[in-house]
Amino acid sequence: MNALLRPWWNTLVELLYPSHCFGCGQAVEEGCTLCAACEGQVRRIRPPCCATCSRPFPGSAGIVPDCPNCEDQTFAFESAVAVVQAQGLARELIHRFKYQRQFHLRRVLGAWLLAGFSDPRLEPEPVDALVPVPLHPVRLRERGYNQAEALASVVSRQTGVPVTPCLQRVRYTLTQTRFDRLERRRNLRGAFALRKNTGVTGQRLLLIDDVLTTGSTLHECAAVLLDRGARSVRALTVARG
Ligand SMILES: [Zn+2]
Ligand SMILES: [Zn+2]
Repeated sequence: MNALLRPWWNTLVELLYPSHCFGCGQAVEEGCTLCAACEGQVRRIRPPCCATCSRPFPGSAGIVPDCPNCEDQTFAFESAVAVVQAQGLARELIHRFKYQRQFHLRRVLGAWLLAGFSDPRLEPEPVDALVPVPLHPVRLRERGYNQAEALASVVSRQTGVPVTPCLQRVRYTLTQTRFDRLERRRNLRGAFALRKNTGVTGQRLLLIDDVLTTGSTLHECAAVLLDRGARSVRALTVARG
């Protein structure tokens, strides 16, 4: 099927199918993806966690300034808010959304993302625009949609903050999953650029993605935006890997 038609087809399918819980299969209210019990199993990231990368810190208190992931590296973004831990059901949901074209899962993932939008780290300064992390055109054709852009649209509809897909992926990179932190950064260098005829000067931007693992992707994107004159860059992801 044509990649452009796929999201519409998926929307049609989700209207026709009765609603069942993604986790346990029991009937749920129309428009719901998880029953209350399964939703309750999803582990939310709440303080104590790292201010910069949202890594949870069992045992300490509040939002801590640094963590082992961040202490020896600098990030171009000010802070990255992640809403749930990428484990169990949440991990499975993201995987199906990303790789198995289950577009309807954007609803529950978008709802979690929206909850993160009111995190205290995003409150002090308003956000001018949401910037989805881009996919390389080859990947976009494979997947049918950019998951980050679909999620950004959900947040935009609810908050009124516009989506600005101003970044593009100019280099096709190998999958990052088997790389360590340093290899990821090296692999991503020069992978992103600002699209032609877009400007971000003076804007306070919020990068949107599905998962934060090491923060390398968000760092590279933020570096490009700051280099092109953005006033500030923060990030919001559904999950923390
Ligand atoms: Zn359930
Ligand atoms: Zn951290």
